[in-house]
This record gives sequence, structure tokens and C-alpha cells, in this order.
Amino acid sequence: MAEDSSKKAAMPGWLEAGLAHVWLPYSQMKTASSPLPVVRTEGSRIFLADGRELIDGIASWWTACHGYNQPHIRHAVAKQLEQMPHVMFGGLAHEQAATLARRLAAMLPGDLTRVFFSDSGSVAVEVALKMAVQYWLNRGVKGRAQFVAFKDGYHGDTTGAMAVSDPEGGMHALFAGLLPQHALVDLPDTEERAAALDTLLARRAGDFAGIIVEPLVQGAGGMLFHDAHVLKRLRALADKFELLLIFDEIFTGFGRTGTMFACEAAGVAPDILTLSKALTGGTLPLAATIATKKVFDAFWSDDPQKALMHGPTFMANALTCAAANASLDLFEREPRLQQVAGIASALEAGLAPCRQLQGVKDVRVKGAIGVVEMARLGNLDGLRARFVDEGVFVRPFGNTIYLTPAFTIAPDELNRLTSAVVKIVRELQ
Ligand SMILES: *Cc1c(COP(=O)(O)O)cnc(C)c1O
Repeated sequence: MAEDSSKKAAMPGWLEAGLAHVWLPYSQMKTASSPLPVVRTEGSRIFLADGRELIDGIASWWTACHGYNQPHIRHAVAKQLEQMPHVMFGGLAHEQAATLARRLAAMLPGDLTRVFFSDSGSVAVEVALKMAVQYWLNRGVKGRAQFVAFKDGYHGDTTGAMAVSDPEGGMHALFAGLLPQHALVDLPDTEERAAALDTLLARRAGDFAGIIVEPLVQGAGGMLFHDAHVLKRLRALADKFELLLIFDEIFTGFGRTGTMFACEAAGVAPDILTLSKALTGGTLPLAATIATKKVFDAFWSDDPQKALMHGPTFMANALTCAAANASLDLFEREPRLQQVAGIASALEAGLAPCRQLQGVKDVRVKGAIGVVEMARLGNLDGLRARFVDEGVFVRPFGNTIYLTPAFTIAPDELNRLTSAVVKIVRELQ
């Protein structure tokens, strides 16, 4: 691996030995700088093997919403570990999963009342797609196996999820032979685009099982925001053309955009909703696909062929469900949404100086998401190293520098994050 110019502490032996064998995500292994060796986390802090301490601006891909090593979640997982780490979910059930399903159903809008557990966001999306396709087949309607999905969208890295993600971001060209074809269109964020989508659906509604969208924020596709009226339009179009509407709230769920779920801000409920990322407060991998009664009823039958044909080995793992229940306790007991509102104000104020700087295309904030979009960002590795030099962990991607801190971050820690962003954007002048 290439050395960066920044001073580098000696690599611990375990990392040096292991780097010959791990394959890192989205990384050109030949040229990527080596990952930072982490020995401990606490709150919004990441502790490195050489004694350095970083303030975390990402919350581990938006998962650790209560900060790291949250004691209530840790205790809940430890207690469950003593009793029963895992038992298969076929023919057996346990209290943590049953309780979590009941609590999620009670929290979600509309009659999103039936919860299917899995172990990653991508799989939750795969399940949502299969659910939608089989919904039509179970009702005796054939030919509806495609989806309407949106440019700049991201729904995961598995084949089905990748096929409904942005073609550029998902590198569809590489996998053309593998991917099913869907309609990838512009979000209906103008009258014109809404009319274009209406026209497409008028012509081809019978090809589609549903529409899939990340409500309010397209995350991995560039942290792009759209207004709630876009979601209202999608609900209206789905109703008009009798399509299922799927909201992928894997990023936006659990307060990130300012309401518990992004769809609440639009006052619309989807037919199917996916959750993962912050579901366990960033401790363990768990995901859920939640269906309305209308969707579930299409599977309710004396015919075994009409059952939902999916079942991950580790679905509803008891440790992960215990973590999720503990995370929901914290949302009930602690003022998380107020904290998100406070973070939004602090991000607005803290990132505002970037608006005056050259090369900055846009500065935007929604909930606990702060984005500085540049016209162009060159050397991402070098930039990431500069942030580490400033004592913060921030990972720009594409042309975007963004902050998605834990909701429990202290004001002075958040201030250090925004100051580092302003300082480093200024250096790019
Ligand atoms: C991260 C993400 C996924 C994929 O989740 P994984 O757990 O990485 O498989 C899907 N959809 C959205 C909106 C995401 O942000």
C-alpha cells in the first residue's frame, strides 16, 4: 500500500500481517492508503493504536446514532449473550425478535405492521423487491417484475439492489450481463419531471411491480436532498397506476433527517419500508423489511406456494434484536430528535463560512446531515489524511464532504468537525 506524505506512526504487527489478506471495500488495494488501526471507541471518539484520538464525523456509515459503546445497548447485548446468542428463526422464536417486531410496527406510520428481519440493508432491499414482485403473482397478475427507480439512488451492493441503484454509481456497465433491467428515471422534483414519469407509467405501468426511492435524502449517491412534495407525488402516482411504493429508509430511518422516519415529514406512508443502518444503534448488523397489511394479505393463503420465499440463516439473531430493542429504549428515554434539531442548527452555522469559498457548489443541511458539495474534489486519499491530521474522521466521497455525527455528539466536538471542514475547504482554494 502506498504511503501518504503525512507523518505515519508505526503500523501494529496485526495490521501489517493482516493487510496481506483482507480485501477492503471500494478500494484500489494497490494504491489505497492503509486503514487506520482502531483499538477502542467511546461516544464520538475513535482511539488509534498509536495513541491518537479522532472525533468521528461519520458515525460508522451513519449507524452509531447514540455514539459508540453506549452502556444501555452494551448491557442489553451482554445480557442476551449470557442467555442465548442465537437460535434459528425457522420453527423457533424468541422474545427479543417478537418484541422488536411489535415495537417497530407501533412506531411506523400507516399500517406498516408486518416485519421481516434480515442481516443487512442490501438484503432488506432484496426482500422488498421480491415481496413486491410476488405480491402481484399471488394476486394472479403476471408480467410485473420491473421497478421504477431513480438517478443518484443507492439501495445496496447485491445484484437486485444494485440494479435499482444509479447506473453510474453502481457501475452497471461492468455488470450489464448480470443485472435485471429497470426504469431508472429522474426524481419527479419538477412539474416537468412529474409529467414525464406520469407519461412513462401511463404507457408501461403493467411492467412494474413498484417504485423504490430513498425518501428525502439520497445518501450514498451524493447526499442529495429533495422536498417532501416529491414523496407526495410518488404516492399519488403509485395510487393512480396501482404500483407498490417502497421507501428505503435504511439511511434516513431513526431520526437522521429530523423526524423519526423521513416519510413522516411528507405525511405519506409507503407500502413497504426498509430499515437497517441505525436500527441497532451501530452495534450489530440487522435489517428489516416492513410491509403493510395490504401487501401481507396477498401472501395470506392456504396455498404454500404463496408464502414469502426468503429466509436468511441468521435472520432475527437474538443479540442484534436485543441491541435494537435497547436502541429504541434510548429513543424513548432521551431527547434524540431535539438533539438532531440542535445539530442541524450547529451544522448550518458551522458550515456557513464554506458558502463564500471558491469551488464550493452547495452547502446544505437536513437534520443531522451536513454537506459541502464541491465543484470538483481531487485527491480523496490526501484529503482524508488531512482530516486525520486535524484530529477528525471525515470521509469525503465523489465531490462531497459530509458530516453525519452521532446524535449525542457534544457541541465542542461538533464544532471541531465543522471547523476542520471549513479549514480544509479553505486550503483547497
Ligand atoms: C447503506 C444502504 C443500503 C445497503 O445497506 P448494507 O447494510 O450496506 O447492505 C441500502 N439502502 C440505503 C439507502 C443505504 O444507505
